[in-house]
Amino acid sequence: MIVCKSPAELERMRVANALVAAVLAELRRLVAPGVTTKELDTVAERQIREAGAVPAFKGYQGFPATLCASVNEAVVHGIPDATPLADGDIVSLDMGVVLDGFYGDSAITVPVGSISDRAADLLRVTREALDLAMEQVQVKGHVSDIGYAVQRHVEAHGFSVVREFVGHGIGAKLHEEPQIPNYGEPGRGPRLAAGMVLAIEPMVNMGNPSVKVLGDGWTAVTRDGSLSAHFEHTVAVTSDGPEVLTRSAADENGPVAALEGREAAEPELASSPRS
Ligand code: MG
Ligand code: MG
Repeated sequence: MIVCKSPAELERMRVANALVAAVLAELRRLVAPGVTTKELDTVAERQIREAGAVPAFKGYQGFPATLCASVNEAVVHGIPDATPLADGDIVSLDMGVVLDGFYGDSAITVPVGSISDRAADLLRVTREALDLAMEQVQVKGHVSDIGYAVQRHVEAHGFSVVREFVGHGIGAKLHEEPQIPNYGEPGRGPRLAAGMVLAIEPMVNMGNPSVKVLGDGWTAVTRDGSLSAHFEHTVAVTSDGPEVLTRSAADENGPVAALEGREAAEPELASSPRS
């Protein structure tokens, strides 16, 4: 069953998700060569608890940290550690909170220092895929329109979509129905209705789509060792279109500009997600 949120519940989700956006914006600012993901994790947990919230991932099925920090070929669910980030790395930061009974969830992939043009393309295309996916968040749209939009954009640029992990509904639980794959045919599956809230999260590999989980039981990496990027927003379905609950000013101004490089033929203003 897909749960629709009441206006009062949606307001609580706005607060939880704004906190996620604010903490991720701060982490993005802190990413630099020499910084460790463990240090980022410490900052994230402190800021979440100071805001009266609780980290959503810490202890979730035994995950040991506040932050999922996935470096280079790591796709998702990397465990923060004491290895310094190096110039040219990319690091995906995925974070969730629960506040006043409702969850927020978002992820960004951040360049460390100066990255290769190809890595920058991967980040840009993944971010664009998320934007195109969010444009599909319309009343009476289909869940599968989201994955179709991601796959079409990603594969047109020669990258590949991870199949093993999916987006999800979110609300009073971190993972609710429906599952939201990042691939597939349009026009299938449940229709969207006002009050649904979705965490949309394309995971995109530079090479082959297949992934494996390392011996720590968590970290998913690309089998071919190619780089992987991950961007996620929590988005509410409203009668006015998508409302992105995890958008922040820093997100808009980040190094991967949302609409950079988009073809002029694609609709931008009419259907772009509101902030
Ligand atoms: Mg997430
Ligand atoms: Mg998620």
